[in-house]
Amino acid sequence: MKRDEFAKRRRQLMREMGRDAIAILPAAQVKRRNGTNEFAYRQDSDFYFLTGFPESSAVAVLIPHREQGEYVLFGQERDPTRELWDGPRAGQTGAVDQYGADDGFPIGDIDDILPGLLESRSRVYYTMGLNLEFDQRVMSWVNGLRAQSRHGLHTPQEFVALDHLLHDMRLYKSRPEITAMRRSAEIAVSAHLRAMRMARPGVMEYEVAAEIVHEFQRQQADIAYQPIVGGGANACVLHYRDNTQMLRDGDLLLIDAGCEHDYYASDITRTFPVGGRFSGPQRALYEVVLEAQLAAIKACVAGHHWNDPHDAAVRAITRGLIDLGFLKGKLPKLVREGAYRPWFMHRTGHWIGMDVHDVGDYKVGDAWRVLEPGMVMTVEPGLYVPPNDKSAPKSFRGIGIRIEDDVAVTRASPDVLTGALVKEPDAIERYLAEAA
Ligand code: MG
Ligand code: MG
Repeated sequence: MKRDEFAKRRRQLMREMGRDAIAILPAAQVKRRNGTNEFAYRQDSDFYFLTGFPESSAVAVLIPHREQGEYVLFGQERDPTRELWDGPRAGQTGAVDQYGADDGFPIGDIDDILPGLLESRSRVYYTMGLNLEFDQRVMSWVNGLRAQSRHGLHTPQEFVALDHLLHDMRLYKSRPEITAMRRSAEIAVSAHLRAMRMARPGVMEYEVAAEIVHEFQRQQADIAYQPIVGGGANACVLHYRDNTQMLRDGDLLLIDAGCEHDYYASDITRTFPVGGRFSGPQRALYEVVLEAQLAAIKACVAGHHWNDPHDAAVRAITRGLIDLGFLKGKLPKLVREGAYRPWFMHRTGHWIGMDVHDVGDYKVGDAWRVLEPGMVMTVEPGLYVPPNDKSAPKSFRGIGIRIEDDVAVTRASPDVLTGALVKEPDAIERYLAEAA
């Protein structure tokens, strides 16, 4: 992402905050995994969205219309000894030269400097509840000023939820963001194709997962979430992450895996036959899910509501369940009653962006949100028939299927970012046959 993209976002946020306001954002904390080990550091999405700054122990402050500079970045100081161990730091000069801050200060000086920045501002934009320790520091700066207000100081009167403004900005992806998401989708597509080529009877689920992760990392990406590789009935466990079983001939394999590249996520699910050919019941159920997915994608159009794709999927799924003997009755009534829910128990999608389940409200007031260009969502209906499900026709028991793509809403037809990945059953069988 180019530097001016971050500057543009800061300007937009400051415009919406207005004069008289200040925004404070801490970087993500380093998280301990076990012993002295840490998890790989991932910057907070909101913080990164505005700064592009990847280091920990940092605080970004935006102060619209401040004459001495509107963007102040606190960060770690340069330290040759520490940098020898942990790698280079931007330091205060880098904060200005590389990251576009008007001023850079050492994080250790924040207690001395920040109250002065708050002093003449009446509204503080801040996200409470994510970092309790930092919440307390922000409160103590504000309270310190209020204690002095008797001496005539103008002090902050109001806290405003920063995430409300910021998450609405993040919901609308700019052109560079769509480009980044397309790249993330491309990498995930190549990982899925690679997994399809190597998944054979006798291969372990974790070996397939390893293949996927290798493809991500080979292309400078990482997992956006733990890959789900579920053979046979494991596909019916929605968040199956054990990935410990052997793939068996005759089973389907459900893979839900997406990567994060340059801070943008992809999220794809495909389900295909381990032995190369769908059985009759597998194909029949697959075609129902596919029809639902295509109908839902068609509804991802500007001017439609957030729920329209889900409604389209529900109708197609319910119709399919009637045709296959799961349900008896009239379509509208079964849809109204939610008769499909034992086999399709999740929603059809979610926003996707810097976070896999991205920010942004799904409703405005009581109404579903209207879809607009720049919004990106997943479309992922599924059908899951547990092996012991006595209410389902016998031949379908133990089959789990989900098909998931990432779709950008445009002025024209839906832009399926992950559309390069095979999903028609004939195309899948052809691809598997060529790979064998
Ligand atoms: Mg997924
Ligand atoms: Mg998803």
